[in-house]
Amino acid sequence: MTEPAPPAWAEGELSNVPPAIRDLLHSGASATAVLAEFDAIRAPAIYTSIAPVSARLPFRYHAVPAWQRNALAAMIGRLQRWRQTSWAAFPRWPLDLSFDLVSDWLGAPTITFARTPVLLTHDIDSPEGLRNLLAMFLPMEEAAGARSASFIVPCAWKVDEALARQILARGHEIGTHGYDHSNRTPFALPAERDRRLAAGHAFARQFGGIGYRAPSLLRTQALLQDLAPRFRYDSSIPTSGGPYPVPNNGCASARPWCMHGVWELPLSMPRDGSLRYLGHSPAEILALWQHAALRIANAGGMVCLLTHCEARFSGNPAMLGQYQRLLEWLAADARFEFVLPATLVDRLDGRA
Ligand SMILES: [Zn+2]
Repeated sequence: MTEPAPPAWAEGELSNVPPAIRDLLHSGASATAVLAEFDAIRAPAIYTSIAPVSARLPFRYHAVPAWQRNALAAMIGRLQRWRQTSWAAFPRWPLDLSFDLVSDWLGAPTITFARTPVLLTHDIDSPEGLRNLLAMFLPMEEAAGARSASFIVPCAWKVDEALARQILARGHEIGTHGYDHSNRTPFALPAERDRRLAAGHAFARQFGGIGYRAPSLLRTQALLQDLAPRFRYDSSIPTSGGPYPVPNNGCASARPWCMHGVWELPLSMPRDGSLRYLGHSPAEILALWQHAALRIANAGGMVCLLTHCEARFSGNPAMLGQYQRLLEWLAADARFEFVLPATLVDRLDGRA
């Protein structure tokens, strides 16, 4: 029998493996023991078990003007950029593929791809986001031969149904973005959570939606356990969450896996919101995205990108220009393949 060895793609990635796991790998421990220990390390980062302040406010935090929220977040973000070791001890920022690396090292069962699926996703938090999606993002994606999935907040504002129908008619996908974006569903009592998920599901069903994205990526074990059978996939766990919504959150994997009866499609790319809050320029963001996409492709994972369509995130000329360059760059490289999340899930289930 040959000794387990690091996979060929591990070069340059090994430093992200948590020290305790590195020690175990070199001690000759069994694959089962190493992965059990890694799962124990990962569990607190996979879930966000503690409610952030926004979920405990007596009013919906969106009642605070966006510019005030943004100004505060940007100030904290710029300070945070220099303190990465405290908020990205594990998983590392901006990309950490250490769980996939260790799985391959040990020859553990895992899903990999010959061509890298590229999932373009948007969280639609407001009527402005929905308008910008149709006017700015979809034409750009269509020109690159891509389609995207938009997770729409179903119960906070009146969703213009005609606009939503246009998204579908143009071949894109609609999913559910929580309930009202008050960040309470993951922490609510079971009956209240069920009521909120049922409303989100009723919204999704009108548009053939099968996917869920948690607002602010806040996800508890109770929430993820309650998604099946209403949804077929969730995409609320970042690969490397960075500082938001809580420090040290993410799954350190860019591969789908089945959890609590639904497919988990990890958000593998650093998010526009986090990057902007950390003070990165649009040009730096493109370079970070390209670098991350290549590392993910090399590792056999899936590229899953979230951009917000509001002007304060990616719905502005400077960010849209970089987004367009990214799309053209991906479209020109045969290693990448644009896929809708729902199509990927059909493939994973053997339905397509
Ligand atoms: Zn959102």
